[in-house]
Amino acid sequence: MFPGPGLPGGGSPVRRQGLRRFFPRQARQSGGAARGGQRGLAAPRSERAQAGPKLVEDCLRLIAGKLQNHAENLDRLNAQLDRRIGERDARLEIVRAALDQEIKKRLWAEQELTQSNHRLKDQVMHDGLTGLHNRRYLEESLGREESRARRSGRSLSVMMIDIDDFKRFNDTSGHAAGDAVLRAMGEYLLMAARGEDIVCRYGGEEFVLVMSQAPQDTVLSRAENLRKGVQLLGIEYEGRLVGPITVSVGIGIFPDHGDSVQAVLRAADAAMYEAKQLGRNRVVVHGHKIDA
Ligand code: GH3
Ligand code: MG
Ligand code: MG
Repeated sequence: MFPGPGLPGGGSPVRRQGLRRFFPRQARQSGGAARGGQRGLAAPRSERAQAGPKLVEDCLRLIAGKLQNHAENLDRLNAQLDRRIGERDARLEIVRAALDQEIKKRLWAEQELTQSNHRLKDQVMHDGLTGLHNRRYLEESLGREESRARRSGRSLSVMMIDIDDFKRFNDTSGHAAGDAVLRAMGEYLLMAARGEDIVCRYGGEEFVLVMSQAPQDTVLSRAENLRKGVQLLGIEYEGRLVGPITVSVGIGIFPDHGDSVQAVLRAADAAMYEAKQLGRNRVVVHGHKIDA
């Protein structure tokens, strides 16, 4: 709604000030004249009648101009805002990409850490030369195996296998040839072992094989097969054959030869020592003697 020709002089002070912004001086003056006319010199009716629409038209033009300016200002502000939002989005995108990169790096580092932990655990539990499990692994496993054997009431058999006169290979063919013998022995034992067996390099030229739930006869015949099989190994080192090798095997059975698996391990060691005493290349069950 626009003010009529009679409004500029009237209304509250605020309203008057507001109107002054929109009414040109000339229009106000002509309005004033019209008012003055009303008060003093009366303008002719026809003049007054013409002044009204002209004033409205001027006001509308002015308002339109102001609105146009406002609209242009708003457009400018909008454009500025858009630019700032664009800049902020670009900055956010950079931060997000950096964050993504950081997260990926951390995940990768975490995976690396997990893998190197696994590798480390693997190294701690394996023998570097033969790739077999080591004594630490055996000791950790024996406790578990013992509990299982106690729960199920079944036996657990331990074979202590020692290469006979191994030092001779080192002395005659060199340490590296001795290593080749140990590696060949490791491969052979892995090949001969069953899925549920534990095979490990106990130390030096000594190996341990643990079997669960096997009757004594089976343990004996497997030990004999091992002993015979070892002699047939054709171990090559630098293009020449090393060997043949023989082994002495001691057997201990839980719970027959000890009230713990550690005690049975010692019993197997004692049986192996007995086999050495009896001339090597033979299998001895703790407390029994078997000829080769
Ligand atoms: P026995 O029949 O009484 O068992 O005699 P042996 O010579 O097999 O046993 P001995 O204990 O006298 O010697 C074992 C040798 O094994 C001594 C040691 O230097 C050697 N040895 C231990 N570990 C390794 C190894 O990783 N590589 C090599 N090449 N030799 C090793
Ligand atoms: Mg030996
Ligand atoms: Mg030995």
